[in-house]
Amino acid sequence: MRRVVVVGASAAGLTAAEALRRAGHDGPLTLIGDEPHAPYDRPPLSQQILSGAWPAGRLPLRRDEDLDALDLDLRLGTAATGLDLAGRAVRLADGSRVPYDGLIVATGVRPRRLPGEGAHVLRTVDDALALRDVLTPGTRLVVVGAGFLGAEVAAVARGRGARVTLLEPSPVPLAHAVGAEVGAMLSRVHLAHGVELRTSVTVTEVTEDGVRLAGGEVVEADEILVAIGSLPNTGWLADSGLTLGDGVVCDEYC
Ligand SMILES: Cc1cc2nc3c(=O)[nH]c(=O)nc-3n(C[C@H](O)[C@H](O)[C@H](O)COP(=O)(O)OP(=O)(O)OC[C@H]3O[C@@H](n4cnc5c(N)ncnc54)[C@H](O)[C@@H]3O)c2cc1C
Repeated sequence: MRRVVVVGASAAGLTAAEALRRAGHDGPLTLIGDEPHAPYDRPPLSQQILSGAWPAGRLPLRRDEDLDALDLDLRLGTAATGLDLAGRAVRLADGSRVPYDGLIVATGVRPRRLPGEGAHVLRTVDDALALRDVLTPGTRLVVVGAGFLGAEVAAVARGRGARVTLLEPSPVPLAHAVGAEVGAMLSRVHLAHGVELRTSVTVTEVTEDGVRLAGGEVVEADEILVAIGSLPNTGWLADSGLTLGDGVVCDEYC
């Protein structure tokens, strides 16, 4: 297999490229990513970056020289817009085509959103920096979704002096992941830190003043973070002929 193209320049795409080189692939290796940044680590976004403890310069997963050593055709800021399976080529947003003998799809997920404009999401370094900049003392932040991400942001935002309301549809946050007992304990920690936690509430939309709940009540906010899960980035594969479900449908051999 000579020309390998990897679409998605984050943790999975980068480590796939590294694994290919380690396994002896010495042919052309293209890594395509729609973000303008070299592959970077996302877990610190909701903690060290949001709190201001780290500059964004600490996020890259590899040093420049280690990336250079992979001898990649690195195409950042370039979205793949389509896949021609029969012609074995990836279509790019600029209209060009990148032919391949082997293709790796590593395009990850994007945040789910709510109807309405003006809410933050947190997936990229740019999202994190934009949210950090508005988390000033006294800012009223509504966080929609008390999963891991929403809970982390609520905690960090309190640390920055924001007034935080955390809205969660289930009766006990994170119960599905850690069980009701630990979920209840985490709720008490949020309350002890001054987070206003409201459970069993469903948010239907983002409004000009805040968010609207299913019963019609508007919870007012200066800033809103929607943290209600993610969707697979399979839009660019829609007409490819690949079987798509909640992601690309694979067999046990990928
Ligand atoms: C704030 C935050 C905190 C997290 N904390 C943790 C944690 O504590 N522990 C943990 O295990 N995990 C955590 N995660 C999850 C972890 O970051 C992901 O599991 C990981 O990023 C998955 O890597 P990936 O390469 O599969 O996909 P992604 O990181 O989603 O990367 C996919 C890349 O492909 C790009 N892309 C998408 N579509 C296209 C296209 N058409 N053309 C070109 N490029 C495209 C995307 O922009 C992205 O750069 C966290 C995530 C976030 C956002």
